[in-house]
Amino acid sequence: PTTAPAAQQVLEQVFGYPAFRGEQQQIIDHVVAGGDALVLMPTGGGKSLCYQIPALVRRGVGVVISPLIALMKDQVDALGAVGVRAAFLNSTQSPDERRAVEQALAAGEVDLLYLAPERVTVPATVELLSRLDIALFAIDEAHCVSQWGHDFRPDYLALSMLHERWPQVPRIALTATATAETAREIAMRLELGQARHFVASFDRPNIQYRIEPKNQPLQQLLRLIRTEHPGDAGIVYCLSRASVEKTAQQLADHGIAALPYHAGLDASVRANHQSRFLREDGIVMVATIAFGMGIDKPDVRFVAHLDLPKSVEGYYQETGRAGRDGLPSTAWLAYGLQDVVQQRQLIERGDGDPAHKRRQSQLLDAMLALCETVECRRAQLLDYFGQQLPGGRCGNCDTCLAPPEAIDGTVPAQKFLSTIVRLERERGQSYGAGHLIDILTGKQTPRVQQQRHHELSTFGLGTEFGEQEWRGVVRQLLAQGLIAVRGEYGVLGITEASAAVLRGEREVRLRKDAPRASSSSGSRSK
Ligand code: ADP
Ligand code: ZN
Repeated sequence: PTTAPAAQQVLEQVFGYPAFRGEQQQIIDHVVAGGDALVLMPTGGGKSLCYQIPALVRRGVGVVISPLIALMKDQVDALGAVGVRAAFLNSTQSPDERRAVEQALAAGEVDLLYLAPERVTVPATVELLSRLDIALFAIDEAHCVSQWGHDFRPDYLALSMLHERWPQVPRIALTATATAETAREIAMRLELGQARHFVASFDRPNIQYRIEPKNQPLQQLLRLIRTEHPGDAGIVYCLSRASVEKTAQQLADHGIAALPYHAGLDASVRANHQSRFLREDGIVMVATIAFGMGIDKPDVRFVAHLDLPKSVEGYYQETGRAGRDGLPSTAWLAYGLQDVVQQRQLIERGDGDPAHKRRQSQLLDAMLALCETVECRRAQLLDYFGQQLPGGRCGNCDTCLAPPEAIDGTVPAQKFLSTIVRLERERGQSYGAGHLIDILTGKQTPRVQQQRHHELSTFGLGTEFGEQEWRGVVRQLLAQGLIAVRGEYGVLGITEASAAVLRGEREVRLRKDAPRASSSSGSRSK
């Protein structure tokens, strides 16, 4: 291709890299030649160069649409440092600053212009862009156009107008989120029907994936940090702001350099914590999922989840922030029965029509299947993205390193389900997991005695397991859709599928949870 030498030259002379990575060169050649592209590449794969180099090689300004306003200044500064004339327009600027950028644009002194999506379609911007030579439109974080996704931004929907208004200008949409379904939706909503698709391998071989039952979350997290990642930078994801605050405090109390980050914190505090995380060594950021998109810190050594992510896509994105430098890193998730109950309730209670809820349930089910699998985690992750792991086993995930035992859980499942059924039929009562387990394990608690539940025929019938093991069983029954969470108090009910189990027509396979590692510190959280 005639354009290749120019691109190669920019790669070496501007960015200082000797060679393209993966499909970068093909993508760049395609866009330089004026083609549209849809690029699916994991975090850290090198998406930026795919539009930056064509913007420099082609005539005119490359317009980059990005939702990450907080990062624009850093991106522009970094480009400036290597001599690329970059600028941004967003709501954080003063009118004077904006005017200066507009003048530079008019004078043809800008190679790359970063724009927030909400600015692109306003008449003043359209008019401004109309006076310019445009090299390309890059739509970063393109999955934000997906209404089903966790990062949906309504402003992205309007970006289809770019094609209508500037049909000759090539467009490149990029994302690290990559199910075939999301790709289809991006192509449809952004009118990228003619775009060539570039799909990189989503495997991140240097990340070790591990998922374990949550028993004493703080102790488990401390053990991970102290034994495997002392002094390392890491991210700990929690579901709620309150648990972010609490966990950050607890880690700090244990001498770990932890900082909280969530959308409820002051903008200045957030900016300060973010920049400390980026610039200092060994900071552990405890955050909600509000943190991380677009953060380019190469040496994040671990990503820990203390709560269950809502989807495999979200989980993959979040864990993908570990080990961008290619060095060994850990993606660790602890999850328990309560997570499943909570997520099911969140979906049930959330707004949205039944179709939306069904869809959220499917996303959660896929996440749960990943958690409960006895197969290679990586193979299952890749399979979710429609990709195959050669050999089927990676050798670098918990299930490959210590294959879990699968057991026949039909009888325990029947015991648990029939306890639910009996309580409902004989007493018209429903309960949460804790009390049901007390009944099965034959515990004479005040509630058992008060309700005369020791008279139930299933009382004390489940002594083959301890409480912790029963919680594992219930978690898996929930994950497999064999019990349902009902109502505000999270009581459990049976489902259509469980009827077959009770009739003995369906087997239940369970994963035997790894025996609880004895905590060397000896302390227990309960
Ligand atoms: P993404 O946007 O896909 O997450 P980036 O574009 O931020 O990834 O690139 C990730 C890292 O890889 C950056 O530090 C970038 O400078 C580096 N990188 C990208 N392409 C190359 C290349 N061809 N050679 C060396 N380093 C590269
Ligand atoms: Zn594996």
